Amino acid sequence: DLSVVARGTPGFSGADLANLVNEAALLAARLGRKGVAMEDFEFAKDKVMMGSERRSLILSEQDKKIVATHEAGHAVVASFIPDADPIHKITIVPRGMALGLTQQLPMDDKYNYSKEYLEAEIAVMLGGRTAEETLIGSVTTGAGNDFEKATEMARNMVVAWGMSEKMGPLSYRAESNPFAAFWESGARAQYSEETAREIDEEVKCIVLAAQEKAREIISAHKEQMGRVIQALLDREVL
Ligand code: ZN
Repeated sequence: DLSVVARGTPGFSGADLANLVNEAALLAARLGRKGVAMEDFEFAKDKVMMGSERRSLILSEQDKKIVATHEAGHAVVASFIPDADPIHKITIVPRGMALGLTQQLPMDDKYNYSKEYLEAEIAVMLGGRTAEETLIGSVTTGAGNDFEKATEMARNMVVAWGMSEKMGPLSYRAESNPFAAFWESGARAQYSEETAREIDEEVKCIVLAAQEKAREIISAHKEQMGRVIQALLDREVL
């Protein structure tokens, strides 16, 4: 189903797609298949996007449970926010630097994002840590990358896309200054320190509101969380 492959590879160039097909064909050949199957494409996509599986990495039962809880958090939050992209796959097989992964598939190519969509996606990103907090009661380092992405998205909403009522429809991007001496960075903010503080506060507000949303959803769906976690522990990939 090429439309599923296409939806799972947004932003891929022709060369990236060629690489994907190549990886899928290599796998199919290794398995002695006569043709390239959908599973081969799935496998190739994960490898190209996230690095090879690290099955040699043995996680303790407790670590597996934490990873499963974290990933289930992303998935359940995404499932209960209509504006979020639907879930395609959840895995707790370590890959590259990641111990687990939840993949969403956009329904169509998006070039223009609504504020609701961005807020939904930030809530999904925070769903992992929120699940650890709510269901395990302690937190791990596993959410570092989620926070980075969520903060960057929230910051862009404020400084670039005029989506903060308080900061208004202004661009606060640091502009590169053609007159800067070469030893200076060349990028400098065109606003006061006071404004910088306000921007930081607004970014924080957006992220905290999304966290609250994630908390509400996870607290209200503990039973579904439990089922997804158990299914992940049993099958590793959903
Ligand atoms: Zn995560």
